[in-house]
Amino acid sequence: MQEAIRETAQSRLNEITAQMSAAAKLATRVPADITLIAVSKTRSIGEIEPLIRAGHQSYGENRIQEAQTKWPELKKLDAGIVLHLIGQLQSNKAAEAVSMFDVIHSLDRLSLATALGKAMRDQGRFLPCFIQVNIGAEPQKGGCAIEALPELLAATKAENIPVAGLMCLPPADIEPAPYFALLAELSARYGLDGLSMGMSGDYQTAIMLGATHIRVGSALFGERG
Ligand SMILES: *Cc1c(COP(=O)(O)O)cnc(C)c1O
Repeated sequence: MQEAIRETAQSRLNEITAQMSAAAKLATRVPADITLIAVSKTRSIGEIEPLIRAGHQSYGENRIQEAQTKWPELKKLDAGIVLHLIGQLQSNKAAEAVSMFDVIHSLDRLSLATALGKAMRDQGRFLPCFIQVNIGAEPQKGGCAIEALPELLAATKAENIPVAGLMCLPPADIEPAPYFALLAELSARYGLDGLSMGMSGDYQTAIMLGATHIRVGSALFGERG
């Protein structure tokens, strides 16, 4: 059973890596410049372990509490694991996030920049953060409004928070390419490097439009139950 899970995880990983390389090649980009974040939210330790044993090191979780129940044990399997927080973060959980994670993708407002800045100084851990942009201006979604980006970038600078780049979750069920292109344009406008965009259904498109970090869950682990 464990062996079968491992083979499946390994073959999906190989398949996605091949697709990533193909998309990178089309865009005359180097595959090594693109990080595959395996989104392991809702997956058990038993489902994640085979990927770690296959040598995969970047993982994404969206809830602090869930990460706390799984990752202290899983991190023991590989000292090189990099854990990404991809879900909304409450300011009162900033300290926990800074101690548990290695990269944060959901910095989206001034109050959170203040809380993260303090937590990073207190712990002496200055984690790279992506600024999440509400790229489709959807009222129900997290993310900084496009017009509020300059102010948030200034705040992160004042707090000494290393900005890794921009992150987005485009509106569901419509063509994501224009939103990816817009995020890339904003990143260039503000002189940033990283672009966290693209999920199971659209990561090749995202890579062709400049993604440096893709966040892939169901294509790696199977559909979430
Ligand atoms: C769940 C999630 C993903 C992965 O979605 P899949 O469609 O399963 O690949 C990516 N990014 C964020 C922010 C998520 O919450």
